[in-house]
Amino acid sequence: MQNLAPYAANPELSRGRRVHEPAPNHRSEYQRDRDRIVHCTGFRRLEYKTQVFVNHEGDLFRTRLTHSIEVAQIGRAIARALHLNEDLTEAIALAHDIGHTPFGHAGQEALNNCMDEYDGFEHNYQSLRVLDVLEEKYAEFEGLNLTFETREGILKHCSQKNAKKLGQLGERFLNHQQPGLEAQLANLADEIAYNNHDVDDGLRAGLISIEQLQDVRLFKEQYDIVQKLYPDISERRKIHEIIRRMINRLVSDLIESAETKFKKSGISSIDDVRLQNQPLVSFSSEMKELSLELKQFLRKNLYTHYRVYRMTNKAKNIIQKLFHAFLTDIALLPTEHYEKAKIMDREEGNIGRARAVADYIAGMTDRYAIREHNRLFDPQELT
Ligand code: MG
Repeated sequence: MQNLAPYAANPELSRGRRVHEPAPNHRSEYQRDRDRIVHCTGFRRLEYKTQVFVNHEGDLFRTRLTHSIEVAQIGRAIARALHLNEDLTEAIALAHDIGHTPFGHAGQEALNNCMDEYDGFEHNYQSLRVLDVLEEKYAEFEGLNLTFETREGILKHCSQKNAKKLGQLGERFLNHQQPGLEAQLANLADEIAYNNHDVDDGLRAGLISIEQLQDVRLFKEQYDIVQKLYPDISERRKIHEIIRRMINRLVSDLIESAETKFKKSGISSIDDVRLQNQPLVSFSSEMKELSLELKQFLRKNLYTHYRVYRMTNKAKNIIQKLFHAFLTDIALLPTEHYEKAKIMDREEGNIGRARAVADYIAGMTDRYAIREHNRLFDPQELT
């Protein structure tokens, strides 16, 4: 059993599951959450969903599955060092992207726009919806029936409107409180993972260069060290050496800075953590600045690169066309989704119908969305 700090999430003091279940025999409640996540359909779909690049662009790029595993790795390392709950951190990390649409940010934005007049679409809220409602696996409850703490960690952001529908889970968005430390930590592990692997994937794709990255202090610091130690190694190895050092630097800063804040704040339970005005797991102010500089670099040079933009533009068109076709005529949906859409239409009218369509589209992988688009709009394609 891990040596837990008093302010860590303790599975024995969990706020529990929506439907009561007997305690597990040989694992903790959070291990059970993690195990349920690994066995669910949404988790397997992460393999064919992407964040920046489209899945079929190359076998070496991160997918949302490998991204989630990297977040879990970074998250567990930090949790162990801070005596926080590793199992809970891992459960949150593995599930954090589960509600994401196909085609990363582009798909999310497109579905968001489509749903604008139908009560909106928020990917964090959708992740919770997948885990609470849409996964149909267990005889006795809807979804995976996860613990409060895992669900709290997955709901990173939430509009006031949706928070009001969530009872206790939504309260912190209404009262401006914090989630547990494991949730705060998983959030930053996510940031560390994607900033670094986007540098790696961006370099591999030839969209950004080592020369350009000389302007990014976080990269330059480590570049100089590696260059001095190993001037003759191949570029591929050099990049990996730099990135692993960048991750290490971010992780160390986060651990040290969080430790100081835990002490200063005088927290002694998870409820103390929840009542804080600010998250306590955060970088030092110097590192915040360096991390922001890297993010801004990626936004300017990678995420808006014309080759990425062409892809995201195509992705948006696919999502929009699928959405409008299905919303206009739900009989085009596969039977299972058609049946759901009919019921939701009966219960909530247009908003319910649109939600059923959004659930179907959000659940698609990149390649499934492309195939579905071709099946609907390409006369040559067999349906
Ligand atoms: Mg993520």
